[in-house]
Amino acid sequence: MVQKKLPFTTEELARIAQQYGTPFHIYDEKAIRENVHRLQKAFSWVKGFKEHFAVKATPNPYILKVLAEEGIGADCSSLPELILAEKVGLRGEDIVFTSNDTPAEEYRKAREIGALINLDDITHIDFLAREAGIPEKISFRYNPGSLRQGGNTIIGNPEHAKYGVTRAQIFEGYAALRSLGAQRFGLHTMIISNELDPDYFVETARMMFELAVEIKQKLGVRIETINLGGGIGIPYRPEQEPVNLEYLGDKIREVYEKLIVPNGLDPMRIAMECGRMITGPYGYLVARAIHKKEIYKNYIGLDACMANLMRPGVYGAYHHITVSGKEQAAPEHRYDVTGSLCENNDKFAVDRMLPKIDTGDLVVIHDTGAHGHAMGFNYNGKLRSKELLLKADGSVKLIRRAETMDDYFATIDFANL
Ligand SMILES: *Cc1c(COP(=O)(O)O)cnc(C)c1O
Repeated sequence: MVQKKLPFTTEELARIAQQYGTPFHIYDEKAIRENVHRLQKAFSWVKGFKEHFAVKATPNPYILKVLAEEGIGADCSSLPELILAEKVGLRGEDIVFTSNDTPAEEYRKAREIGALINLDDITHIDFLAREAGIPEKISFRYNPGSLRQGGNTIIGNPEHAKYGVTRAQIFEGYAALRSLGAQRFGLHTMIISNELDPDYFVETARMMFELAVEIKQKLGVRIETINLGGGIGIPYRPEQEPVNLEYLGDKIREVYEKLIVPNGLDPMRIAMECGRMITGPYGYLVARAIHKKEIYKNYIGLDACMANLMRPGVYGAYHHITVSGKEQAAPEHRYDVTGSLCENNDKFAVDRMLPKIDTGDLVVIHDTGAHGHAMGFNYNGKLRSKELLLKADGSVKLIRRAETMDDYFATIDFANL
């Protein structure tokens, strides 16, 4: 069995847990930076390639700052996400605003900081014109509907997805935006999630390049940026392989040279807004086993719960588990690894074969660097954990404290009871 590695030794982790207390998410700064370099290298042939990190994946400004230092922008879809991007010093087109069902105040904020707005619907042209004004550069989110094979269980078939505009609306939309004074145009799509087959993204690029050519031919509108969205998957299971970024970059280059160059659209900027693949594999939820329960099945109860990581409970998603210090022990015990919510789906793993776990053991849940802490919630009065950054020099920094009961009660005025 392939092993998933940890960026700390058993002793180091014991020390971190001793100092900060469990549970916590910890992110590996060095690995995040190296991963970003791989992505940028794969697309270094594109003039002005830009990855905009989908803030929703890990909305922590310390993480955004690490990414910004590497030249990564932000992809936001809410007012707080725009403010987070602004607080780490991102401005203008480093920020893309790919929202849907967007409130007016969020458009106003996006305009104020000069973010590139990706319109999710044709009716938002008038809405934006009225509420915030049409900017010089603007983009549309394209939904290819049934034209596009694929889709998967997380995002669904694009025909059933609420996002983006139809093919007919794309042409109508750019013409309308141009008549309202827009001068520079982007084109965006995001139709897949957690996909490990690089050919999906190559085909998405082909579809988008063809559309940009058609827009130029039909309307005389030159698309200057194509945003391929996010959705690059990560190997949650030990036997899975990460997406080969070099292959992806090379294949998209071939399509670019075939479609963009001969049609006079070169140089075309290519953007992405990946979240999961940027930070996902480099975050770990560390919890302590506090109970062992043996009834019809055997349970290990952790001091973490769904409030800290929802994906297994909500999607049945696999997250690999390592019992710290027992990496070499045989996985001879079948456990359900649970949290403490009064919800039977509050389980990090079901029927997982693991080494024998004793109370007090540190249990490391892998691949929590994206959509982990971020999806946390307070159901059952459970509080979200702290977040730690394992810095490149091996030191550890607290980048978000754990919630307290005061936080939980902050929205209630007990004095008026
Ligand atoms: C969630 C999301 C992303 C990022 O998706 P990942 O699967 O994390 O790469 C990018 N763009 C939009 C509009 C999104 O909603």
